[in-house]
Amino acid sequence: MRNVSIVILGGLLLAACGFREQQGEPVRATVAAVDHARLLAADEEPGNWMTYGRTYDEQRFSPLKQINDANVGQLGLAWYFDLRTHRGVEATPLVIDGVMYNVSAWNITYALDAKTGRELWRYDPQVDRSRGRYACCDAVSRGLAAWNGKIIIATLDGRLIALDAKTGKPVWEVDTFGEYRDKWPYTITGAPRAFDGKVIIGNAGAESGVRGYVTAYDAETGRQLWRFYTVPGEPGKKDGAASDEVLEKIARPTWNGEWWKYGGGGTAWDSIVYDPDFDVVYIGVGNGSPHPQEYRSPGGGDNLFLASIVAVKADTGEYVWHFQQVPGDSWDFTSTQPMMLADLEIDGQKRKVLMHAPKNGFFYVIDRTNGKLISAEKFAPNVWATHIDMETGRPVLTKQAKYGKEPVLLTPSVAGAHNWQPMAYSPLTGLVYFPAQEHWWVFSLDPNFEATVAQRLSNPGIRTIPVGTGGPMDAKRRKLFEIAQSREKGWLTAWDPVAQKEVWRIEYPRAGSGGTLVTAGNLLIQGTSRMTVAIYRADNGQLLWEMPVQTIPVAPPITYMVDGEQYIAINAGWGGGMAMAELRAGRGMHRADARVLAFKLGGTAQLPPLPERDPIPLPPPSTASREVIEKGAELYDRTCARCHGPQAIGGGVIKDLRHMKPETHAAFKDIVLKGTLVGLGMGSFANELSEEDVEAIHAYLIERANQDWGDRSLEATQSPSQSQAGGSAE
Ligand code: CA
Repeated sequence: MRNVSIVILGGLLLAACGFREQQGEPVRATVAAVDHARLLAADEEPGNWMTYGRTYDEQRFSPLKQINDANVGQLGLAWYFDLRTHRGVEATPLVIDGVMYNVSAWNITYALDAKTGRELWRYDPQVDRSRGRYACCDAVSRGLAAWNGKIIIATLDGRLIALDAKTGKPVWEVDTFGEYRDKWPYTITGAPRAFDGKVIIGNAGAESGVRGYVTAYDAETGRQLWRFYTVPGEPGKKDGAASDEVLEKIARPTWNGEWWKYGGGGTAWDSIVYDPDFDVVYIGVGNGSPHPQEYRSPGGGDNLFLASIVAVKADTGEYVWHFQQVPGDSWDFTSTQPMMLADLEIDGQKRKVLMHAPKNGFFYVIDRTNGKLISAEKFAPNVWATHIDMETGRPVLTKQAKYGKEPVLLTPSVAGAHNWQPMAYSPLTGLVYFPAQEHWWVFSLDPNFEATVAQRLSNPGIRTIPVGTGGPMDAKRRKLFEIAQSREKGWLTAWDPVAQKEVWRIEYPRAGSGGTLVTAGNLLIQGTSRMTVAIYRADNGQLLWEMPVQTIPVAPPITYMVDGEQYIAINAGWGGGMAMAELRAGRGMHRADARVLAFKLGGTAQLPPLPERDPIPLPPPSTASREVIEKGAELYDRTCARCHGPQAIGGGVIKDLRHMKPETHAAFKDIVLKGTLVGLGMGSFANELSEEDVEAIHAYLIERANQDWGDRSLEATQSPSQSQAGGSAE
């Protein structure tokens, strides 16, 4: 697999390679003239935002202070740019020398004038939308990388593409899935990171059963440099990868059974951080696949490197150290959450640390010279573990944590106490800011789980969701689910990583707020689940400014400077995992399509009014037998709920199937079995469902639509653009 095909497009490679050779022109004459030296010194260019977390330490702290706690009241909208999608937008845009590079749903990529929002170019990589249904958590991308005149994107369907930063035309393209493309349901949602002539990317798909890996490529040509698999593969088979030796020596002895048949999981779907101090890369590794260890590795074991941080050499991918946060994961707990590097003074000593607030609800401070735990404390309610044992670094689990066939209510849960939303750290306040949540979920083993490909695609082995129609087991799950919903909370926490305690918090009406940015102007900025962008004092959390923006921006804000003026910008587009798995957050939300919003002092732009919501179409009468509806509920729960929502209540991004129009009902079978709406991301399910199955699911949906008809509190809305387009099956 080292021989993946590389397509060099046109003669652009030469031009992109050598900005220093361009007839003595100043370096900045090349668009996105970003090299290793410039990225290493990114902190000295506060007017730019050249890499995912602004600097390699990913602190998301900006030294800019033209906008500050004294004048932020004069902040207004400078410009907005319509991204023309109702899907989630999670990306951190880059701004380099006055140009904003941004990536939206389905990896559509834009260069915008950062001063005006004018479109300079747009590139649509024509993502294979049948892959959309393999993405657990929306057709999102978290960002892009810049390298030497190129903007590098990683597409949902597994391609790494370098675009000419000036024109948006592809320079090279490489297939990161290669031989796995047609065999395994991989996707990519993470942002590539570029450093020292390399670009690195992981992948996603552990919910459907894949084997995680991270690959480094030459940023100039796309040639593969090294690959690191995060979990061992089939016994006796070498990968020819940088991970071969460590997987045999350290990881394989921690596994049992035939996990490789389901992939094992361990996808590095988000945080991968380069540390120039040690020339290593930290890989945040994801959950196990299938979810319950009982099915994945019967007899137990730590299942390395699931839910771990793995440090590897940047040049070769060779293993350096690892720290596992969740041995033998059974809860969809990942260590993929944003990692942040800092030098902190702890007990009078300066320590080079990695700070991390993963799904499992503990805030970790880790010594990055050796991967040893310095401290770990709970940042959210936690009935999964009582504490972290400081000797071993292992969580001490509660009794109920290990669930069986009986449903159990746990927090943190699949959505995590904190998820992918980037956190920010201010060296001025000494605080780390991130959105935390209390999110409960119902866990039980799915007694009918089979490791067939068809089942794997839709079923990670746990029953989390109550179906809508009753039955003895279901009644208990439904009750627990109602309790779970009633307990949901979301807040912005200001966390002292040295004292390991919360200093203050901002409570929100519901979970789902976005990532954070903090500035030297004493500003803490966040998109909120109040459907606003809010700015607080970074030192004490006092609300200074807030603006309704017609949606919940889940992406983190950035700040930059053009022509002497400071801007704050954010992608405002609700979506992602919370919108899929979560009932309350998106329920009833009437919102705009995604936009980029840019603010400045004295900005006077106005958003257009939000159009009225459409009335809900009258559902057909429910005439199927109880038996058929029950079967449909079971199949829906297994196959459809992950995207379309538990109990057929949409989270506000993917189509709420109670809202189908007559023409969608008429076309239902073809949509599901023939993939007639694949353009919206609704691929065919012909390999998993029979015609009879589809009829049963349809009967269940008609029943659910009739149950909730007329109760507007239960509505999730469609956007104007969707309703104009007619029967969307997203
Ligand atoms: Ca997962």
